[in-house]
Amino acid sequence: NRTELEWLGYQKDDVIGRDFRDFVSPETRAGLDSAFRDFIEGHEGSVECELLCHDGERLPVAIEATVQITENGYQYTRAIVFDLTERKRIEQLLIQQSMTDPLTGLGNRRYLKTQADMDMARARRTGHPLSLIMVDLDHFKRINDAYGHDNGDRVLQAFSDTARQQFREEDVLCRIGGEEFAVLLRETTSEQAMKIAERVREAIHNHPVCLGESTLIDYTASFGVTSVDPDESSLTPAIKRADSALYEAKAEGRDQVVTYVAERIENIQT
Ligand code: GH3
Ligand code: MG
Ligand code: MG
Repeated sequence: NRTELEWLGYQKDDVIGRDFRDFVSPETRAGLDSAFRDFIEGHEGSVECELLCHDGERLPVAIEATVQITENGYQYTRAIVFDLTERKRIEQLLIQQSMTDPLTGLGNRRYLKTQADMDMARARRTGHPLSLIMVDLDHFKRINDAYGHDNGDRVLQAFSDTARQQFREEDVLCRIGGEEFAVLLRETTSEQAMKIAERVREAIHNHPVCLGESTLIDYTASFGVTSVDPDESSLTPAIKRADSALYEAKAEGRDQVVTYVAERIENIQT
């Protein structure tokens, strides 16, 4: 019909004599076919698929169909096609928002988990190493007490900017709690991750937070490093190991990087 021609950008001569299925993306065509077979049994139903636009774009749609059977057994369907573009856009936005920390723009704990599932599966396939760094800002309560909560927030933002510059595009830096961060590093051994964490630790020293012209907030962070075993069922055991190394870094005086090494924790500075 005219509406659909308009949506997809075709002239009527482009479509007359062609099968509707020709305008369904190859990736969603099998799903459409199987849904229509089910419709015949259940007499109605709906399915989502993508239509191919004249300009090469794809239009997400829902098709709702009812099946009619004539007296002499001839089956046909009547279908209504709904444009899902707006709904898909909002769904994407909601997914993105639910995975983003609004203060720093970094991924949140949920995002870390999603990425960890993918990165661990990749590491299992490729055999490449995967590492995790946990970071906790030192004496953050004191920073809030001394400069106010808003300026504390600025320190969190400054940390995320400074840290981001030290990592690669594909490293997954997330804010997983108040002043706690986690980084997942692909194709990185824990030895390499330890060096990177040390670089971030130094970068923080070189980038205090400016408040106005004369006030600088110096802050530090402690780091716990571990390798991620991709055969483990989730990131949780690795988080526990990195946390125990981080705890050790705090106990040893903060502002340092500690790597978890089975049963024994190794301090980079000793
Ligand atoms: P430690 O070196 O042992 O980590 O000391 P700490 O003071 O950082 O330890 P603790 O984890 O007890 O305190 C964290 C503080 O971070 C407490 C809380 O008020 C503050 N905080 C948590 N989330 C936020 C936030 O979003 N903004 C600000 N400004 N502060 C926050
Ligand atoms: Mg903390
Ligand atoms: Mg802290």
